[in-house]
Amino acid sequence: MILTVTLNPSVDISYKLNQLEIDNVNRTSSVSKTAGGKGLNVTRVLFQANSPVIATGFKGGYLGAFIEDELNASQIKNSFYPIKEETRNCIAVLHEGNQTEILESGPYISTDELQGFIKHFEKLMDEVQLVVFSGSLPAGVPVNYYSDLIKICNHKSIPVIADTSGIALTTLLEQSNKPYAIKPNLDELSQILGYTVSEDITEMKNALKHEMFNGIQWIFVSLGANGSLVKHDDEYYKVNIPKIGVVNPVGSGDATVAGFASAYSKDKSVIEIIKTANTFGMLNAMEQQTGCINIDKFEGLYKQIKIIEV
Ligand code: ADP
Repeated sequence: MILTVTLNPSVDISYKLNQLEIDNVNRTSSVSKTAGGKGLNVTRVLFQANSPVIATGFKGGYLGAFIEDELNASQIKNSFYPIKEETRNCIAVLHEGNQTEILESGPYISTDELQGFIKHFEKLMDEVQLVVFSGSLPAGVPVNYYSDLIKICNHKSIPVIADTSGIALTTLLEQSNKPYAIKPNLDELSQILGYTVSEDITEMKNALKHEMFNGIQWIFVSLGANGSLVKHDDEYYKVNIPKIGVVNPVGSGDATVAGFASAYSKDKSVIEIIKTANTFGMLNAMEQQTGCINIDKFEGLYKQIKIIEV
């Protein structure tokens, strides 16, 4: 069983408009409301790939209940921890080929809730082999909270994949309890290093030799349509992927994480893990819905991936 952790989930609302009129009333009947957040994308993709998964995180109020109901209706196992404040909405307005987003920062998590979640998380540990942390930390959550959770996992020898960015990522890299794997894209890698890393292979390799990455077994640097550069222990691989018909690449990084988790939990080889992760990323980019793959197209793409040790 893989446990996905989404501390700041959302109900993602998307409104389609022919034209967005500023300072006026905009009406639409084209509305979709789905359970969102990076960790829930990972969850859905794992579920679609027939990998046993359970989702956790904080849930509050009616929107928290909406997320739970949606997961239950899809028969996705979940065990969210209740909080006092309301789970957030994230709104995307699709208009004239643009996507205008309004993202709520989300609920404030109290000290009692933080401690309560740790106990809840420890109980969930009994039935899992791998944990995935995805996304930002809601207000009230200390920046080292992921590190505290990773410490629990490391103590139980349960590997962790951490897919976060900014201060949450830099903080967890500074702590002695390291995740087993991380998946920054090039922007996130540049952000934590404090300089712009280009797609030049030597430059990327040098970037990953920084001491902040010591002790992390797997680093997947995802490069969108250009595949990825992967560091596993002291080996580096450039992954070249075929050209595909891209429909919506949002959430491809989450699907990549799901692919890694799925292959890793099935004891696949290093090369198989790398290929599966990239294939899942591509499969997501080929679908309209964020955090969604058509597993029937897996084989066709998987065999076109070329990996070069660099
Ligand atoms: P993130 O969503 O975290 O920024 P990326 O955009 O790098 O992540 O995408 C993750 C993976 O998804 C890539 O390594 C690749 O396998 C696949 N992918 C993403 N965008 C494309 C694209 N435009 N064409 C082909 N594959 C893509």
